[in-house]
Amino acid sequence: MAGTFGNPEVVQEEVDILIIGGGMAACGAAYEIMPWIGAAKEAGVDITVKLVDKAAMDRSGAVAQGLSAINTYIGPNQDPADYARMVSNDLMGITRDDLAYDLGRNVDDSVHLFEEWGLPIWKTVNGERFDGATWPKEGGKLLKDGGEPVRSGKWQIMINGESYKWIVAEAAKKALGSDNIQERVFIVKLVNDANDKNRVAGAVGFSTREDKVYVYKFKACLLVAGGCVNIFRPRSVGEGQGRAWYPVWNAGSTYTMAAEAGAELTMMENRFVPARFKDGYGPVGAWFLLFKAQATNAYGEVYMQKNKELLNDYPPYGQAAVPASCLRNHLMLKEMKEGRGPIYMDTVTALGKLRETLSPREVKHLEAEAWEDFLDMCIGQCGIWVGENIEPEKKNSELMPTEPYLLGSHSGCCGIWASGPEDVGAPTTEEHPDKDKIPAHLPQGWNWGYRGMTTVRGLFTAGDGVGASGHKFSSGSHTEGRMAAQSMVKFVMDNKDWTPTLDTPVEALVEEIYRPVRTFLEHKDYTTAIDVNPHYITPRMLQFRLQKIMDEYVAGVATYYTTNGHMLAVAEEKLGMLKEDAMKMRAKDLHELLRAWENYHRILTAEAHMKHIQFRQESRYPGFYYRMDHNYVDEENWHCFVNSVYDKETKQWTVFKRAHKDLVDKSKLFKPAAH
Ligand SMILES: Cc1cc2nc3c(=O)[nH]c(=O)nc-3n(C[C@H](O)[C@H](O)[C@H](O)COP(=O)(O)OP(=O)(O)OC[C@H]3O[C@@H](n4cnc5c(N)ncnc54)[C@H](O)[C@@H]3O)c2cc1C
Repeated sequence: MAGTFGNPEVVQEEVDILIIGGGMAACGAAYEIMPWIGAAKEAGVDITVKLVDKAAMDRSGAVAQGLSAINTYIGPNQDPADYARMVSNDLMGITRDDLAYDLGRNVDDSVHLFEEWGLPIWKTVNGERFDGATWPKEGGKLLKDGGEPVRSGKWQIMINGESYKWIVAEAAKKALGSDNIQERVFIVKLVNDANDKNRVAGAVGFSTREDKVYVYKFKACLLVAGGCVNIFRPRSVGEGQGRAWYPVWNAGSTYTMAAEAGAELTMMENRFVPARFKDGYGPVGAWFLLFKAQATNAYGEVYMQKNKELLNDYPPYGQAAVPASCLRNHLMLKEMKEGRGPIYMDTVTALGKLRETLSPREVKHLEAEAWEDFLDMCIGQCGIWVGENIEPEKKNSELMPTEPYLLGSHSGCCGIWASGPEDVGAPTTEEHPDKDKIPAHLPQGWNWGYRGMTTVRGLFTAGDGVGASGHKFSSGSHTEGRMAAQSMVKFVMDNKDWTPTLDTPVEALVEEIYRPVRTFLEHKDYTTAIDVNPHYITPRMLQFRLQKIMDEYVAGVATYYTTNGHMLAVAEEKLGMLKEDAMKMRAKDLHELLRAWENYHRILTAEAHMKHIQFRQESRYPGFYYRMDHNYVDEENWHCFVNSVYDKETKQWTVFKRAHKDLVDKSKLFKPAAH
């Protein structure tokens, strides 16, 4: 029977494996899983799989608008151990080398597939650069046949990537089959197993287009719903509202659903505050790396030179050949705080210098690339340059550090504690003074059998979901999805006789998901102004409240990214009340129902972020946030992971330390300290 807004149709399905999300990691899993399912069938085990995405896979997730570079490609002449070193250094020393190294040794295969599927990748032929359309005529080769990519940095390669997501999604859809894909379904929560509360048995969500609630039961699930955007008040308000750097539609679903299911989170204090072109959030990577542009203060001074002494405050990380992203922000913020802004990208000098060394054809091509970089992945920035009469060869453009974002695949490392590879010497026990504070049900060491599985049985993650790694980017997220696909098939085969039983009756789940709708329908006639009602709060208003709390107390742009224990205590109280008030969100249509649940996911993710910053009594990421009551990096006490678990019954967090260990020698990264 067709549902109505007040009375949705309930669709129940049982599959062996559910993939939640349709982004890079999900596409990797979708592509990889079918041959393994085929092998399982040959071994006598039939496995069914379904992928659900809140949007349409062709343009969903962080790669939606396209990209200009694949940021992780190791190539035949580089060492995955060096890649793991870079990841660690950029994230101030606290990452899992097992995860980074494993990714580094596997990622190139995904990039070769992208090229095979039709993604144009730039090549250097006889010392000249050619874009993806031109190199075949110049005698270039595919990467897998020894073609030389154009590197915009040590690990990045240039692409013509406007259609990147289409290409990757097409391969995923073809592999999985359209019958196994359900688009425009927003998953709200995971459901634990009735007989084992540390195991997942199902998930529940709703259609964003029809009055339908979906209840899935499964043996294993890949939760890859991206990172978290819009928990902080954005810099773009008023007429610019809605713009953000990371994708606004990734609302912390990964972290919140995992936390509520009981999964251990890691490094949720970490955030990414990218410095981007002001107001449009346009990408700067090509300018810094490919065009070798420099950033200056208003007086033309290069702050990375001018303020380099500040790096000595943060040994050993400040002594690395390439300082961590947060430290680069730290040097810029000094200029802004002391009144020497605006900060500019010196595009004029950079393009002038390129003319001295490159052929006219190459310069013309690079100028076009400067525009294409925006057209590929951030078209709004083109609008701003056009609207502000900016010709980059004649006029410099302003840079600005953005509001904070939470993510685990780009230049951040918050996420879920996931099982790593078994063959790289990762710790298998916990040996440190605080080990007794780790809840007893959680595993010891860094691997517990299935690569990519969280601490909840049957729940896997990848991409933005996997914490304590970072710098995986698009190709690495795809790769992690593929690795998780293999593990899930193994897990399902190992559990082939197990039957999932939901710990909550379906009716109760449906009621919970449609609560904002019921609240609206019950109370809408109480007042004559639909948005003003003592019985409910609109998702939009609630989001403003969340963003104000985070901005003003949890080191947002309002306080130049500073906070302290007192401010965090205020945030804690206010977030607690907001969590309560979230139960009163209304939904006047399906779009608002989506907004309501996105906000709920944001609140819990925000709370995790706040709790972790509160627990870690140091400022590990200067330039991203400062705890002014502990404004230093404390290697002795805090060179460790900060992890947490959430209890969905008591709604309380338990935060604790896990020991960090270097599996790759980091000493070659650092120059001796200057003092
Ligand atoms: C502006 C920008 C620039 C970037 N530049 C580069 C670059 O130059 N090079 C590079 O290699 N990488 C780049 N990246 C990084 C890259 O895009 C990400 O690392 C990668 O997409 C992460 O993959 P993921 O699968 O974890 O998340 P995503 O690809 O974001 O996918 C998340 C998916 O989850 C779905 N979803 C979310 N919530 C739900 C829910 N509740 N229910 C169901 N589905 C849900 C979304 O619709 C989406 O399909 C960039 C990203 C951005 C935003």
